[in-house]
Amino acid sequence: MQIGLGFDIHRIKPVKNGGFFLAAGTKIPAPYRVLAHSDGDLLYHAAADALASALGMADIGHFFPSKKSTTRGIDSLEILKHYLVSLRRRGGSLLSVSAVIAAEKPPLDPHRRSIQRSLAGALGLPDRSVGLTFKTFEGIKPLAQNSIACWVNCLVQFNDKANQP
Ligand code: MG
Repeated sequence: MQIGLGFDIHRIKPVKNGGFFLAAGTKIPAPYRVLAHSDGDLLYHAAADALASALGMADIGHFFPSKKSTTRGIDSLEILKHYLVSLRRRGGSLLSVSAVIAAEKPPLDPHRRSIQRSLAGALGLPDRSVGLTFKTFEGIKPLAQNSIACWVNCLVQFNDKANQP
């Protein structure tokens, strides 16, 4: 067994209309847009880094550098899939993930089921194996006004101990 940990943070910019952010492909209406080189899906980014960590692999910045034109606007599910393929090749299976999303606005609880379902679907896990916790930044200004953040940990089991990092 191996535990992995991933983290992601993105800058946000207030907008009057049509703002949103992506959490595991779920579009959450928000009073801002996310500044990102990719599609800015911070939950997929943190989940991918958690898998990288559990596999002893390099992080997403290594395989999908944000300065390259080839990764501009990339669908972050592709980033996640890169690590899921490696996990499978190594004979590993994902047992569970736990995620914390920190966003000052909007309230995320109404989106809980849809975020949980989409993350579980992307990872091939039952919904009950995806834990979700939503936090604000408690009004702490530099973070609350300018960012959204996400932490994910995961638990991976290797069928063959030789493949364990
Ligand atoms: Mg990111």
